Amino acid sequence: MRKLKLTRVECPSCGHPLVSKQREEDLLFACDCGTIHMRDPKPKEVEFQIARPRDARRPDNVYVPFWRVSAHVSILGSEVVGGYIHKLATLIEGGGGRYSGNVDIYIPATKLPAEEFRKWAVAFTNNPPRYAEYKDFGGISRMPCNISKNEAEKLADFVILTNEAEKPGTMQYIQYTMTVNNMSLVFLPFIRDSTAKLYINL
Ligand SMILES: [Zn+2]
Repeated sequence: MRKLKLTRVECPSCGHPLVSKQREEDLLFACDCGTIHMRDPKPKEVEFQIARPRDARRPDNVYVPFWRVSAHVSILGSEVVGGYIHKLATLIEGGGGRYSGNVDIYIPATKLPAEEFRKWAVAFTNNPPRYAEYKDFGGISRMPCNISKNEAEKLADFVILTNEAEKPGTMQYIQYTMTVNNMSLVFLPFIRDSTAKLYINL
């Protein structure tokens, strides 16, 4: 059985009482004043963007929160068999054979099945989503944010590695450093079908 707990705090920005109606595992409080706070464990304001759906009228629309981890990555060394050089290297565009630069890594901020998690993380990290911004969710429900900032930072490493390991066996080793410069939330519109499968609606 799922535990339902109503947590009551005041919005640190406007003082309004915030009631999280979502399940206990949701870390976010969205306030009518347009701020979103995250339990950390005390409410802390979080930077966010809400993307406008291509088709906002569908009843099966749902927002999926993603962490956008803006990081500086330097590849110190790697060995790849078969001449397959990294997507990561092309993303960070160091030039002159030096692979070092900024990359936005997209991490689902909600728990998804492992395969879907990886699929969307890799898809958006390789092709950052482009969208117009919405002021609010426009009545569309959102999935809970239940992956903390700290977890997302660790998962960013995982995404970089699985991104590289797409052709199994070609990657021998990679050594890199990653410095996270900023983390914010991006709510991306999806369509969730009757089997809970997600399709991007951008
Ligand atoms: Zn407020």
